[in-house]
Amino acid sequence: MISVSGYKQFKQCERLWFYKNIVADSRVKNDLFRKEVTLLSKLQSIYAWRGSIVDAILSKYLVLAINNKYPIKKDYFIEQAMSMFNTQLEYAVLQKYREPDAVITNNPSFNAFLECELGDGVSDAEINQAKDDITNALTNILDDNYFLDYLKSAKYVISQRPLIYNFDRFSVKAIPDFIAFFDNSAPHIFDWKVHTYGTTSYDEQLIAYAVALFKVAKLKPHADFPSDLSKWKINDYKLTEYQLLHKDRIKRDYDVTDDKIEDFGQNMSSAIIRMHMAGANKKYSQLKSQDFSTTAHIENCQKCPFQKICKTDDYETVTKYTVRDEYFQN
Ligand code: SF4
Repeated sequence: MISVSGYKQFKQCERLWFYKNIVADSRVKNDLFRKEVTLLSKLQSIYAWRGSIVDAILSKYLVLAINNKYPIKKDYFIEQAMSMFNTQLEYAVLQKYREPDAVITNNPSFNAFLECELGDGVSDAEINQAKDDITNALTNILDDNYFLDYLKSAKYVISQRPLIYNFDRFSVKAIPDFIAFFDNSAPHIFDWKVHTYGTTSYDEQLIAYAVALFKVAKLKPHADFPSDLSKWKINDYKLTEYQLLHKDRIKRDYDVTDDKIEDFGQNMSSAIIRMHMAGANKKYSQLKSQDFSTTAHIENCQKCPFQKICKTDDYETVTKYTVRDEYFQN
């Protein structure tokens, strides 16, 4: 299965994609190497973690409030976020994921920091900043009454829904942050971003979501999709990236144009050819890490969760300094 984020990983480093998508598998219990890679694949920076907490809170509580017409109480959302923050922070800092009976999937307490596993840990200043960022991002959206009124006018909303379709013999998966369906207008897809500066735009990612929703709506609509969803042309879909942390609450709207859809289709085709040639359609037992090239941009390795194992595939005997050491010795 190919995902848009997976292809980005593949372009960044084929070896990283291999570890994350072929080796890592939380169902594997008896292969110590694969178990370790599965755990490493879940490491994240404290910077990424704060965004995942905001996503999780909006996915759960904003969807519940809108679909059930509950009042949206900012303090409650922030309280829930801080509770999640404290639980996951403790789990990561105490490295509870290294305990023998640790549960690393479907565990709401689970969290593992790159900084604790590969670096010197997280500082009080970083923790306080992450806490402030989460509060500010939630405050920005939950005080945005005009935007909330717009969402409340939807028939209903869904969040983090996997949309899977076939493209050129491959399955492609996209998971938009949030989709609002309306009675009398086309669906509106949102991408939440929790970035400090918000200077990068994400039109290709949103186009990928629009294509996925359009294909699924036409060919295999989910049971809870509006029954007339397929009547909308893809060009009618609305796309918005919302920079939640930006003080000006930047919202970038993108049009779905034929040119953008064609560009996306060509990028996917070339991605699939590249990944197919590298063996991405094969099983773990048919592949070895050397089939996948390491990145030419060794600065990527500094924040890579697989730096301990990348050179030797032996996680017990290496340290980060033996891996891509040309970088670390500079
Ligand atoms: S350490 Fe570098 S080369 Fe190895 S998987 Fe990570 S990014 Fe790729």
